[in-house]
Amino acid sequence: MITEAKQNKQSMYDTVLNQFNKTADLIDLNPNIRRILALTNNEIIVHFPVKMDNGEVEIFTGYRVQHNNALGPYKGGLRYHPTVDVDAAKALAMWMTWKTSLAGLPYGGAKGGIQLDPRNYSLSELERITRRFTYALGENIGPEHDIPAPDVNTNAQTMAWIADTYMSTKSTSERSQNQHVVTGKPVGSGGLEGRDRATGFGVYLTIKMLYESRGENLEGKTFIVQGFGNVGYWASKFLTEDGATLLAVQDAHATLINEKGISVEDLFEHSSPRKGSIKGFTGAVEMEPEEFFGLECDLLIPAALGNQITAENAYKIKAAVVAEGANGPTDAEGEQILLQQGVTIIPDILCNSGGVIGSYFEWLQNRNGELWELDEVMQKLEKKIKQVFKNVSNEVAERKTDWRTAAYIIAISRIETSYTQRGIFP
Ligand code: GLU
Repeated sequence: MITEAKQNKQSMYDTVLNQFNKTADLIDLNPNIRRILALTNNEIIVHFPVKMDNGEVEIFTGYRVQHNNALGPYKGGLRYHPTVDVDAAKALAMWMTWKTSLAGLPYGGAKGGIQLDPRNYSLSELERITRRFTYALGENIGPEHDIPAPDVNTNAQTMAWIADTYMSTKSTSERSQNQHVVTGKPVGSGGLEGRDRATGFGVYLTIKMLYESRGENLEGKTFIVQGFGNVGYWASKFLTEDGATLLAVQDAHATLINEKGISVEDLFEHSSPRKGSIKGFTGAVEMEPEEFFGLECDLLIPAALGNQITAENAYKIKAAVVAEGANGPTDAEGEQILLQQGVTIIPDILCNSGGVIGSYFEWLQNRNGELWELDEVMQKLEKKIKQVFKNVSNEVAERKTDWRTAAYIIAISRIETSYTQRGIFP
């Protein structure tokens, strides 16, 4: 089962610091830059009141952590989840800094959200919560300063409310220059064609490229997915279209298996009206959640929360490839065990970078007053992800190291170069 208790925030932060320190040692990172990157620049916490449908007022706590902006404006998602707090946001913001740097985007890293379970609120309550959160953040976000995007339990609708609220606080003449304050908006409101599938497409493409580099393809490969939200759904869709079979899916409510293969579209039809839950789907049978990671398969895609693969379950994993659709799904001990077992991990900052690359395209589109067509977007996305993948695979070959370490070396070295060129003010 996707365990929220395991999403121990302190340990998620431990995971990212552990990865950072390992790389900093390896590349002998300048100690001054190491001190800067080990900390976040700003941690914003806001408490704000919202009127509920029953007339009562509830106070919410929202977060935005801005880790680093050496390479450009802060960038990263907002998640609505009970586990959101300052430590979780710090860890997730750091991962965004590495991810945007690795992808060669002119962005830094940030993350935030609200500590709540959206299932407990009506749509109109969620709208008021989102608008009031945006208002509370004020000038801490901005189209050239810090640009949020969707993440766990937020979507294009959430982004439309944020954009509308933020733009409404501007004078009439400035309003239209602020549309790119968020990315991941609905297509009719400045959103990018294809942004919805960008993350899942990147997950699929990096897996496909890994197999191709070994002279294999996706035909006949079996895979299991943890989380069937936007990332899990789109990745599964692209993989099955290329001949792979989805054997099992797990979410917070159920674990389902069908040895003959689960229909991705049928499962999506079933789960979307139920706020994403796969429970009750008749095209598969329920199994023991604890047995999920140990299933016989070629590929495991964690696409839900952080710290799911740990010392407790990593040794059970039979998949030879783990593709991290989620941010931080593997903790340090889990990773050690997987690497010892010879498992290849496609790290989150590479595997799920299609999302923020799509966001960058949307931001450019808005900034330039352009409208890009879907095939154009998908071509650009494919080209960019292929470049990033090649950079990492070259580093893997050169350094004879694992994929995460290679990705971190590229990401952190780029930031180091920028600091070295510019120096520290004053
Ligand atoms: N939430 C996504 C991520 O973790 C997308 C971030 C963005 O597009 O800014 O990468």
